[in-house]
Amino acid sequence: MTLHAETPARTRLATYSKNHCPQCGEWLLAPDWSEYFNERCVRHTWSCQACSYEFETAVFFAPREKIAA
Ligand SMILES: [Zn+2]
Repeated sequence: MTLHAETPARTRLATYSKNHCPQCGEWLLAPDWSEYFNERCVRHTWSCQACSYEFETAVFFAPREKIAA
C-alpha cells in the first residue's frame, strides 16, 4: 500500500474522510456507489479490492450556516 502525502486541505472533503477498509485497512479511492437521500445526507457504498469487503457509510452534512469558511 502506498500512501501519498496527505494535505490538510483534504480534510475539508468530509465525504471521503473515512475511506479506509474497516477490515484490512486498505485505502479506498472512491465509493462504488453514492446514494443521494436529501440535501443533508448521502450514503456511500464501498467495496475493497484487496479483501472484497463491502460496507456503507452515511455522510450527514451540517447546515450550511455552520460550515466554517
Ligand atoms: Zn479490505
